[in-house]
Amino acid sequence: MERRILVNIEYSNGEVKNVSKEILTYLSSKQVVDRNEVYGLIYGSKIDQDTYKQIGELGIKNIISVIDESLRCHNPEIVEYIYTDIIDELKPDLIFFGNTYVGRDVLPRLSQHYNAYGVSDIIDMEFKDDYSIVFRKPIYGGRIIEKLQFQNEEKLFITSRPNVFGVSDTNKVIPKISFRKLNKIEDSKYKVLKIVEKEDSVLPINEAEIIVAGGRAFKSSQDFEILHDLADVFGATVGGSRPVIDMGIKRRSLQIGQSGKSVSPRLIFVCGISGQIQFVAGIGNAGTVISINKNSDATIFKTSDYGIVGDVYKIVPILTEKLKEIVKI
Ligand SMILES: Cc1cc2nc3c(=O)[nH]c(=O)nc-3n(C[C@H](O)[C@H](O)[C@H](O)COP(=O)(O)OP(=O)(O)OC[C@H]3O[C@@H](n4cnc5c(N)ncnc54)[C@H](O)[C@@H]3O)c2cc1C
Repeated sequence: MERRILVNIEYSNGEVKNVSKEILTYLSSKQVVDRNEVYGLIYGSKIDQDTYKQIGELGIKNIISVIDESLRCHNPEIVEYIYTDIIDELKPDLIFFGNTYVGRDVLPRLSQHYNAYGVSDIIDMEFKDDYSIVFRKPIYGGRIIEKLQFQNEEKLFITSRPNVFGVSDTNKVIPKISFRKLNKIEDSKYKVLKIVEKEDSVLPINEAEIIVAGGRAFKSSQDFEILHDLADVFGATVGGSRPVIDMGIKRRSLQIGQSGKSVSPRLIFVCGISGQIQFVAGIGNAGTVISINKNSDATIFKTSDYGIVGDVYKIVPILTEKLKEIVKI
């Protein structure tokens, strides 16, 4: 039995987003491709040739592209319309989105439209030899990992948590692109009135290349200032462990860990965080991990590339000054 799989491809400034790369490279693996047919769906007001090339480099042979001026801003009604049009014709069995703003917005609409199952925020999937599929997802704020197994499913809508699967190497292909027209929707209830740019100049934590993370060693927003000074050296994003969010120092979207975000920066500074499993679960795909902790036995040192034993209030400002000098050169 061969399945058809359709994957939503998100991109920004012509770059395919990491979460889409993760899903596509996972689904381009031999084990999946040998028994399934994978299609990527990309839409927007303008799509560069280079973006299609990137998708081919992720091993996806079949691309469906919808280009229309009305797709300049996210409009879930139009996206739902594009999908239902393509799903009715292509009849895919599995439809994947990243667990992003777009995915979370569109998945319930589509599963409701088809009266089909929606599985959100998966952190693991397995294509079994008996053609069943297993997904795992955290529930109850990450206290329990739910395992869901499907066989002969008709249509299944899935969102995949960013930065969990990682981007793997695949065989490059030259993709076949089929361009589709968007018929106008009458009576749209959803209108974009104004686009307001976010004031934050730094990247969201799950897209950040460099992260400075603080933990319970910091008791107030004022304490966190030294971490912002360090972050400013590289334009890094500042996040934290759960206590920092529970104390109200940082907003929930900046929590790293099992019940927060999984991150995959090239470099992360972990400051005053003990390294409990629920935090470490969020940094499994990080590149270089540099930790600072006053306790030489802190568990975080076991998952760090470099460790500094000392008081964050002393070490961080020194590090910031030294790094400023290096960055200037
Ligand atoms: C279901 C569930 C889900 C959870 N999800 C998450 C999650 O997503 N993310 C998360 O982070 N946690 C999560 N937790 C909580 C997790 O178990 C830990 O309680 C939390 O990670 C601890 O945060 P911390 O390391 O900042 O604090 P602590 O464990 O209290 O560690 C503070 C560290 O700071 C060091 N320190 C203190 N002062 C200084 C100083 N001046 N200089 C240097 N070092 C200093 C200490 O030595 C210590 O190692 C979850 C828990 C549960 C039960």
